[in-house]
Amino acid sequence: MTSPAGITLPVQIKRAADTVRAVFGAALDLALPQLCPACRAPVEGRGLCPACWSKLSFISRPYCERLGIPFVYDPGPGILSMEAIADPPAYHRARAAVRFDEISRALVHCLKYGDRLDLAPMMGQWMSHAGRELLAAADALVPVPLHWRRLWARRFNQSAMLAAAISAESRLPVVATALKRVKPTVQQVGLSRSERAANVQGAFRVPPEGRGAVAGRRLVLVDDVLTSGATVDGCARALLRAGAANVDVLIFARVAEPARTSI
Ligand SMILES: [Zn+2]
Repeated sequence: MTSPAGITLPVQIKRAADTVRAVFGAALDLALPQLCPACRAPVEGRGLCPACWSKLSFISRPYCERLGIPFVYDPGPGILSMEAIADPPAYHRARAAVRFDEISRALVHCLKYGDRLDLAPMMGQWMSHAGRELLAAADALVPVPLHWRRLWARRFNQSAMLAAAISAESRLPVVATALKRVKPTVQQVGLSRSERAANVQGAFRVPPEGRGAVAGRRLVLVDDVLTSGATVDGCARALLRAGAANVDVLIFARVAEPARTSI
């Protein structure tokens, strides 16, 4: 009883609070089954229920080797889509795990706004599989950054969460300092293609502290959803201007109308 109560009490309270939290947290894990992020049905383990899982649309070949957009028929190896030829992006190749639809939208939404960070490892695994060729040829992962104001409001960057999950699979380092969103862009939803491009114009920059991790490196940009590709194109431009040797893009879900070929 030599120590003054004023010093020991807060420590004891803190320890007690930690214990309560640990016990209560464990009890919650036991008591509450996880819910399917898409239909809210209780599921065993984590992730989607079997019905929603079967509705997921994974993207596989044949697709445009450049943009990764699926073809409706197989035009033969190495064929590019008309979009890739007519309007080539700044990045080299893009790959996505799944098509953006009702189910994948629910997964992204739960990760982003629903505090379902437990979904990131599963989503990252699918992305690692879809992007295995890109990852095998890369030096590092770069998550598409949020503007600091949005990061502050949301508390975490969903793209950084996905990059961390891909890093666990691929052992590639994540370089979060490589890119900065210097302009608070408005949400891309509802904008036309040219409005999207204008919205991200000058929005991304490689800060001085990121230059060393970019110059001469082969990078894979990581993002949750690709719609027009304007965001990742803006990011790729900034990275290439700063001397990146190559920039590929790995996305969780992409909006994908079937690609057309010139034949
Ligand atoms: Zn479900």
